[in-house]
Amino acid sequence: MAPIFNQNNGTAYYCFCTEKRLQLLRREALRLQEIPKYDNRCRHLTHDVVQSKLDKGESSCIRFKMSDKEETFEDLIYGRISYNISLNEGDPVIIKSDGYPTYHFANVVDDHLMKVTHVLRGVEWQISTTKHILLYRAFNWNPPLYGHLPLLMNADGTKLSKRQGDIKISYYKDNYIFPLALINFIVHSGGGFTKDLERHMKPSCYSTADLANQNSKEEKELISRVRKMVEEKYHESIKTGSLQLNTSEEHIKNILHWASNRIEKLDDLLSKNLEFIWTIPKAQDIKNYDASLFELLRTKLKSQDEFSIDRVSTLLKAFCMENEVKYSNFMKTLRSVLSGLKEGPSVAEMIVILGKENTLQRLQLYQNNTRNFLYWENMLEYCEDSSYDKVYRIVPI
Ligand SMILES: [Zn+2]
Repeated sequence: MAPIFNQNNGTAYYCFCTEKRLQLLRREALRLQEIPKYDNRCRHLTHDVVQSKLDKGESSCIRFKMSDKEETFEDLIYGRISYNISLNEGDPVIIKSDGYPTYHFANVVDDHLMKVTHVLRGVEWQISTTKHILLYRAFNWNPPLYGHLPLLMNADGTKLSKRQGDIKISYYKDNYIFPLALINFIVHSGGGFTKDLERHMKPSCYSTADLANQNSKEEKELISRVRKMVEEKYHESIKTGSLQLNTSEEHIKNILHWASNRIEKLDDLLSKNLEFIWTIPKAQDIKNYDASLFELLRTKLKSQDEFSIDRVSTLLKAFCMENEVKYSNFMKTLRSVLSGLKEGPSVAEMIVILGKENTLQRLQLYQNNTRNFLYWENMLEYCEDSSYDKVYRIVPI
């Protein structure tokens, strides 16, 4: 077999950082309450520096250049998954200083050489899939299809581990458990099969569609739980009609997707600074900016395909420059228009959380209100003779 890395295509690099430096980085990150991650320093070493360090025999490992963009893949079970891995991780080590590959690297190379076409694994691996796909891409290989499965849980809600209780397979044999019964039990656990277990002892064939169905059943239950939770929280306001809620299936799904690695428990979604997710802000009396400015912003956002925080934040900054409005003031107004709040996540994050459709809808709502107001204000201004008679004729009160 030809060596796998016989040429440098620029997707990996030597890292000479000492364990001491890495420890310092970790400690500093903890002090600042940030996620500890490698700062990618050696990515920027010149070829000559690298060569001289190698010649001197300095200890090194090889790191993979991770993309800093949001990457998307189609999960066979969960559908479209987007994740920007660089937010939580620095460039990962693929070959350790002792020359051995790390797990993620070996996994990709091994699966490729074994001609693996489908990877089915627990959902806790979903977060690493982007990394795996990027590794395939670096080799110019086609990645397999990935499907992530819901985990099997213990009665107390913790993850069922293969080492739990540490029972040898011979235990079941000694206790007269038939092999088929054991296979049947394991395969049906968490798989969501509805067949009669007694009559269909041997699992013959199952499809990813069966698994996806099971997943969507769980998803539906979760969505209705969130809807109930939100409606109970704002029960009074709905009754009096002072608040309008958005609890559509699509919206809840988007929010859960956004929240999946940001909240600890479900009712964190009801915290004060996330109220804007569910409630549509009331028409407000903000006259700082012309409605046409919001029309422009709406058109800009409408033409955006990618709604990541980075993208939206760059867009907002450029928008303020182009239209010569002060960024901080405009953000204040925009925050208020979108959420009715004075504080909370950054405006760009708010837009990403709300999603394109909700954001455009809220801008439109504001525009409509402002336009009506401005229309009458302008009409009165153009009206030289503001006698009662004239005003009466143009303002239909
Ligand atoms: Zn380094």
